[in-house]
Amino acid sequence: MNILVSACLIGIGCRYDGKSVVNPDAMKLLERYTVIPYCPEVYGGLPTPRIPAEIRNNKVWTADGRDVTPQFAKGAKEALRLAKLYDCQFAVLKERSPSCGTGFIYDGTFTGTLTDDDGLTAKLLKAAGIRVIGESEIPSVL
Ligand code: SF4
Repeated sequence: MNILVSACLIGIGCRYDGKSVVNPDAMKLLERYTVIPYCPEVYGGLPTPRIPAEIRNNKVWTADGRDVTPQFAKGAKEALRLAKLYDCQFAVLKERSPSCGTGFIYDGTFTGTLTDDDGLTAKLLKAAGIRVIGESEIPSVL
């Protein structure tokens, strides 16, 4: 079964800070599924490292006040294209990210405060009927 996975969860250095952080549970997915690694922010045209961004008033803003909604929207659109091309049954996405977060994301104040919402990519995939889970839920699909 093919699944779309946030590339940073398996150690690809695409995080905003350029660091590589492996999630051990996500690595276990490789033994059981055909993993399609994807980073919406990189495919949306943003550099790595990059200024962190959060969603506020339905737009995505960097911490220094730049509107990066078009790049985030493009990354979400390409995620859906890839998920459909590979017939992904579900997606495992990084929690709290303004792109990948599912259920909870940072609230746009850059204070570490969470709010009930999805990142742009998670939202688009869900709207297309693809099941989206965060990394803390991986044990439920292993
Ligand atoms: Fe990871 Fe998603 Fe952020 Fe890319 S956009 S670094 S895949 S959380």
